[in-house]
Amino acid sequence: MPSGPAAAGEVMSGRIKLVLLLVLIGALSVAVFLGCQAPPTDGRQEGDDAVDRVIKTDEEWREILTPEQYRVTRMKGTERPFSGEFNDFYEEGTYSCVCCSNPLFSSDAKYDSGTGWPSFWEPISDQSIATARDTRFLMVRTAVMCIRCDAHLGHVFKDGPEPTGLRYCINSVALDFVASGEE
Ligand SMILES: [Zn+2]
Repeated sequence: MPSGPAAAGEVMSGRIKLVLLLVLIGALSVAVFLGCQAPPTDGRQEGDDAVDRVIKTDEEWREILTPEQYRVTRMKGTERPFSGEFNDFYEEGTYSCVCCSNPLFSSDAKYDSGTGWPSFWEPISDQSIATARDTRFLMVRTAVMCIRCDAHLGHVFKDGPEPTGLRYCINSVALDFVASGEE
C-alpha cells in the first residue's frame, strides 16, 4: 500500500483523469447528438435549392407593404372573412405573392369554398409554397408560406375538392393578381 504525499498525488491525478474522461464523454455525446439532428428545414420542401430566395429585414418589409399586408404576411395575421378583394373574384389569371411576386396559384385551381377567403385546391407549381405546422390559438393547422420569401399566406386543410382534396385558404391581402395576357 503506498502511503504519504505520493499516494495523495496519485489519488488526485486519478480523479483528474476521471474528470477529464467524463468531460470528454460529455463532449462526444453532444457532438454525436448534434450530428444526428436533421438539418433545419424551416418547413421548406425539396427542390428549394432552385428557389431564388428573397430575404429582407422587418424594416424593409414595412417600407414596401401596407400595414395590413405586413400584419398578415410578416406577422402571420388573418384578414376578416368576406373582406378580401379576391374572395368573390373569378377572373382568369395568376395570383402571386404580394411580397415578392412569386407565382402562387392559378385561377384554374380557385373555387368558392364559402369560407370568406380565396380558396384553391393546388398551388401553381412546386416552387410556389412551403408548409409548416402551426399550433397557435389552441389549434393544429398547417400554415402555408411563400417558398421564396416566407410570407405567411394562410392555411391548408384536407376538406377541399378533387383531385387533391386540399383547400388552400389564402388571405386576399397576401396576393397580387395578374390577369391572363398581362404577364
Ligand atoms: Zn413571396
